[in-house]
Amino acid sequence: MQGQSVEKNARTAIYPGSFDPITNGHLDILSRALKIFDKIIIAVLRNGSKEPLFSVEERMSMIKQVTSGMNVVIESFDGLLADYVRQKETNIIIRSLRATSDFDYEFQMAVMNSQMNREMESIFLMTGKEYFFLSSSVVKEIASRGGDVSWLVPPVVAEKLKAKLRSSGSNNGEE
Ligand code: ADP
Repeated sequence: MQGQSVEKNARTAIYPGSFDPITNGHLDILSRALKIFDKIIIAVLRNGSKEPLFSVEERMSMIKQVTSGMNVVIESFDGLLADYVRQKETNIIIRSLRATSDFDYEFQMAVMNSQMNREMESIFLMTGKEYFFLSSSVVKEIASRGGDVSWLVPPVVAEKLKAKLRSSGSNNGEE
């Protein structure tokens, strides 16, 4: 516990991700995580490797609307997750495993993170089978081609996607 200025709380966990945009799969993980933890800090990555469709403010605003009534705090972060966690009241992060293809990437990240921050622990939750193949990318792909995404995301997100794609004039999802 050397050099730690923040008192750590084992009843809180951080759920980091791009959330571009938040989907029913993310919400499924969130509700599972809230069965284990009292409070979840949703940490929205500012500058991921992918160019986001929604600004970080838009992503946070959608998350806020669809998590009202849940014990969550919504923040954004930049840089290394290992450094962000160091400043927080918990060392625990939640990630999830969908199809087996997630495993390699998530395993690599968890190992690297714990190398960079020895106090950090990654907890993996499995999603419900109906969300196994759901991702923000798939949602954006379907929406950009005019498909119905109302069964994949909360209504407010479906609306924002429509408006965003209309305003960006995108109708085929390609750059
Ligand atoms: P990142 O770019 O960090 O992967 P995402 O927003 O895509 O950000 O995902 C954040 C976390 O949420 C990851 O652990 C991911 O596996 C999980 N997640 C994304 N979609 C789903 C889903 N459909 N069901 C369960 N978990 C999901």
